[in-house]
Amino acid sequence: MSIIDQLAHIEQDALSTLPTISSVEALAEWKSSYLGKQGAIAKLSRELGTLPADQRPAAGQRFNAVRGTLESALSERETVINSAAQNDAFTREAVDVTLPGRPTVVGRLHPSTRVLRMIDGIFAEMGFQVWESPEVETDTLNFELLNIPADHPARDMWDTFYIDTPAGAEKVLLRTHTSPGQIHAMRAHAPNPVRVILPGKCYRYEQVTTRHEMMFHQVEGIAVGQNITFSDLKGTLIGFAERLYGSGTKTRFRPSYFPFTEPSVELDVECFLCKGDGCRVCKHTGWLEISGAGMVHPDVLRNGGYDPAIHSGFAFGMGPERITMLRHGIDDIRWFFSGDERFLEQFV
Ligand SMILES: [Zn+2]
Repeated sequence: MSIIDQLAHIEQDALSTLPTISSVEALAEWKSSYLGKQGAIAKLSRELGTLPADQRPAAGQRFNAVRGTLESALSERETVINSAAQNDAFTREAVDVTLPGRPTVVGRLHPSTRVLRMIDGIFAEMGFQVWESPEVETDTLNFELLNIPADHPARDMWDTFYIDTPAGAEKVLLRTHTSPGQIHAMRAHAPNPVRVILPGKCYRYEQVTTRHEMMFHQVEGIAVGQNITFSDLKGTLIGFAERLYGSGTKTRFRPSYFPFTEPSVELDVECFLCKGDGCRVCKHTGWLEISGAGMVHPDVLRNGGYDPAIHSGFAFGMGPERITMLRHGIDDIRWFFSGDERFLEQFV
């Protein structure tokens, strides 16, 4: 077979196998076996020297033509393979933008914290400072100095978590109310005037029910100075109720009893749900009880470092959980500290 015939054979062979190649690696192999330095065409070209001199130029041109044909066929095939590989990658790595996204969970404040901040804000506008006092107290501060001696019947109102203490040491307990903070605040200010609120947690050793938790918040308030009267107490609490429930909210004071205030009252606000007509939330009375208050008892004033002949004052207390329950119609206090997100995430 002549060199030219062999060349034609190689060309035909190369062009017929090319379309079956589908990978970049196989294409590189094809290139080196036909067009490479050790490839079929290069090997055959070494025999050009055996041709008679007058045939060499034409044969050389033929070689160049075949190389050109194969190179352009190669580059065409390369384009096809590359775009197929690219399409493959696109399909493999495709992002389905129609898939619904995952919602981000946003943290939020606990409902008790929200109401505490609201209460703090209202009293801050009225010139009350926020004061903190310890959650662990002595029996003296939690009871005795607030006019609640050991044999006082009012002790029954505060079932208490006592903490084990060495024999002979003073009894220590988890405070049952924020009222011992009154003593701390008065002692820190006496004989100068004091006007603070004391928000914080309280603890009661009692059966947990829909209405009672063993841990809850209270906000205590106290103002002591000269010429502080019952009118100041009324004005402060009515102002608070109007800021919390809207101006024009009806309020009423009922006589009550607390060992550390005299006289003592309870503050009711008109039921915001039924506007006084009576409903389930207000137990058909038309009124909601939101605070206990009174004029600071002379003994308590003395225990705080004031002279009742010169100084007078008022104090009040309220439960943020109770206020939240009334605002939102929540019928079970256990929701607050259950950690149940279905409850907590409703307060945005
Ligand atoms: Zn009502």
